[in-house]
Amino acid sequence: MISISKPQIGEEEKQAVLQVLESGQLAQGPKVKEFEERFAAWCGVKYAVATSSGTTALHVALLAHGIGQGDEVITTPFSFIASANCILYAGATPVFADIEPEYYTLDPVDVERRITPRTRAIIPVHLFGQAADMEALSAIAARHNLAIIEDACQSHGARLNGKMVGAWGTACYSFYPTKNMTTIEGGMITTNDEGVAERARLIRNHGSPRRYLHESLGFNFRMTDLQAAIGLAQLPKLDGWNRKRQENAAYLTSGLEDLPGIQPPRVRPGGEHVFHQYTLRAAQRDALLEQLSARGIGVGVYYPIPIHQQPLYRQMGYQEKLPVSEAASAEVLSLPVHPALTRAELDEIIAAVTGAVKS
Ligand SMILES: *Cc1c(COP(=O)(O)O)cnc(C)c1O
Repeated sequence: MISISKPQIGEEEKQAVLQVLESGQLAQGPKVKEFEERFAAWCGVKYAVATSSGTTALHVALLAHGIGQGDEVITTPFSFIASANCILYAGATPVFADIEPEYYTLDPVDVERRITPRTRAIIPVHLFGQAADMEALSAIAARHNLAIIEDACQSHGARLNGKMVGAWGTACYSFYPTKNMTTIEGGMITTNDEGVAERARLIRNHGSPRRYLHESLGFNFRMTDLQAAIGLAQLPKLDGWNRKRQENAAYLTSGLEDLPGIQPPRVRPGGEHVFHQYTLRAAQRDALLEQLSARGIGVGVYYPIPIHQQPLYRQMGYQEKLPVSEAASAEVLSLPVHPALTRAELDEIIAAVTGAVKS
């Protein structure tokens, strides 16, 4: 069995966790502060605020931008549910725009069409490890005076035209075990806006600038020092893992690109894809999925139901058709691409896909 993801936990992580356990400082403390500083430096941004998850990072980021009731926020329906639910948590209204068929990220033309006087922000999702069309989206945001909150939960280190994700707005990261690096559960908000960073720090910790003084309504969305210590051990290894993912993706593509009915993932011109997922497109997706599973290849469908068609959103009255997202949901299939894969396993994956297509 070749699994679709494999968290890389080594001696450094184990030692780091033991050290924190022995230090007596377990919850948010000096390790969280150090992880925030290192992560901000790695991203090339001024501020980073650690949270309990990628979901809470998105929730806090929207609140820190002052988004709430009566506001509309445009995002993609072709993502993990949290990309849209964070808008509901803030009391605002999600508005879905369709995606580009080649890259599965927000289609700037459709985004601009959906702007109303109530629109306050755009949440582009850098899906599968690839940046959305940020040059076009940030031009639209500037024209209409909208905030950009980048959902970078799958794209630690992805670049477009030499700029790392997070360069166009406030960005949110997840460190869930399947992501390109992990703190087990955990998240991060990065920003160059001092006000956003300050408000985010307050909101994640009960609106409390100092102990038992509460200035505003906040939450307990803190990261622990235990998680931050794991993150500090992971971060120096992230660039190497991303390179390995890119090499694995290139190898898979070279083995699959000539197969009939298979469209390997495309990289946006000027983009550096970090392959959180290696997602191909297949007209006969469900048959392929079944055959690969039977051959012991861990495959995944991200995402089988676009968010606007989820029961939760249907119940709220979402009825629009977003044909590009709906077609993608029916045709995408992700293969293992994680950094621990061996050459033999990559060959086994290629052979299994080839066998399934030719059978
Ligand atoms: C993982 C993920 C999230 C949520 O992160 P959690 O840490 O699981 O809360 C949000 N958006 C996208 C695109 C994700 O992949």
